[in-house]
Amino acid sequence: MDSVIKVYETLSPEETLEVGRELGRTSLAGQVYALVGDLGVGKTVFTKGFAEGLGIEEAVNSPTFTILQIYDEGRIPLYHFDVYRIEEPEEMEEIGFDEYIEGDGVCLIEWAGRIADLLPDNTIVIRIEKDLNKGLDYRKISVGIPV
Ligand code: ADP
Ligand code: MG
Repeated sequence: MDSVIKVYETLSPEETLEVGRELGRTSLAGQVYALVGDLGVGKTVFTKGFAEGLGIEEAVNSPTFTILQIYDEGRIPLYHFDVYRIEEPEEMEEIGFDEYIEGDGVCLIEWAGRIADLLPDNTIVIRIEKDLNKGLDYRKISVGIPV
């Protein structure tokens, strides 16, 4: 489990966008955000907000088929990964993952649990969960560090 630093609770996609914007506004080059949570939980919604917080106006979608999408128009580059389809760690090497995580931008990785062994020590985990007892649109967003 992660060591949780901060918890947000949202009741709509707009509120999750706002959490993403807040973190995007304060993000720094070299940071790696691991987005963890089931299909449809809101990883891409969070990423859209994060991109807006960086000043990116281009539309953001899950790069499920391309693995990586680069957005250059913001305050710092955003490297948006969706590693759902990665089967071997070598595939990440091939796309140059090491250079991106040590680079001049911020990495946001959907389905990061699939490449857990490749994540650097400074990774920030964003875990998004539903709780159906609290309604269909409720999300708990925990920000933490892996332990
Ligand atoms: P993922 O990338 O995790 O597979 P998406 O971000 O693509 O998921 O989709 C999340 C879905 O959940 C969207 O259809 C969104 O409208 C819906 N949703 C409902 N409530 C929320 C909320 N509180 N936060 C984020 N998304 C929500
Ligand atoms: Mg997604």
